[in-house]
Amino acid sequence: MTPALRPVVNWNIVGGCNYRCSYCVQKHADGVGGPDDARLEAGLNCLCALPRTWEIKISGGEPFLLKRLPEVATRLANAGHKVSILTNLSPSLAIIERFVSAAGEHLRTFSCSLHIEQVGVEEFLAKAVAVEQLLRALPRATFVVNFVVQPGKVRQAAELRRRFEAAGLKFYPQLMRINGQPARYGLIDRFLLKRAFADLTGPGAMNRGYSHLGKPCHAGQYYFIIHPKGDAYTCYPGKRTGQGYLGNIFDGTLQLNEGLLCPYPVCPCTVPQNRGIVQKEVESP
Ligand code: SF4
Ligand code: SF4
Repeated sequence: MTPALRPVVNWNIVGGCNYRCSYCVQKHADGVGGPDDARLEAGLNCLCALPRTWEIKISGGEPFLLKRLPEVATRLANAGHKVSILTNLSPSLAIIERFVSAAGEHLRTFSCSLHIEQVGVEEFLAKAVAVEQLLRALPRATFVVNFVVQPGKVRQAAELRRRFEAAGLKFYPQLMRINGQPARYGLIDRFLLKRAFADLTGPGAMNRGYSHLGKPCHAGQYYFIIHPKGDAYTCYPGKRTGQGYLGNIFDGTLQLNEGLLCPYPVCPCTVPQNRGIVQKEVESP
């Protein structure tokens, strides 16, 4: 039986970032501060009018570069949607606190990514612990630390996992991708990955990259992504190929579909895989 679907949209609200990670897949896109007031208003009106309750996962670039982010959280929450966030955790605790309080009971996942090229581990860990404590007042909110495991740095990732888990934090190692494809890990890396992360199976625990080619998928119906310029797509491969275009939230042309049979060889999208958006087991008639 198809599990209850929990609609999700990934909103890359800001293209730019205050960091310059060497492995960044966003390529430091234009639109540093995010949409102007008129576009933001149009985008919010569009998302607030979506039928059903959606989880709006806000990311960037770095979403906190948008000064009106707490207001965005309040508007989405007032429309009945749930709010999640992915940040590099560079904003001050006071700013983060303002956002958390604006989302309130509607806050779900607070994800932050550790980028050791840009920030010291001790500083990041201390802030992460403080945010996790802040979220304890919200029983439905969860906190996770993401980390991109670069080829040649698997041992370091395993050690970081130990440190963060020892501090009581969930640690999510992400395999690196280049142009949508998994990066090449050598023999030793693959051995170390197996040893360090063998217990992490399934896309919710580690993004190993699975194929759902030809399987029914509700991407475009109960899941979609939004580019900083407002263009919406079924999913990340749908954006990369242009095949999954659904219209634009700033000009009012967004049009959801009825789902599709996955046409892509690899699915890098963890959310659809974890939320039953992709039907991994095809039901018998
Ligand atoms: S923090 Fe994220 S968006 Fe910013 S440069 Fe690093 S990987 Fe890219
Ligand atoms: S299975 Fe993944 S790649 Fe395929 S259409 Fe669905 S979300 Fe996109």
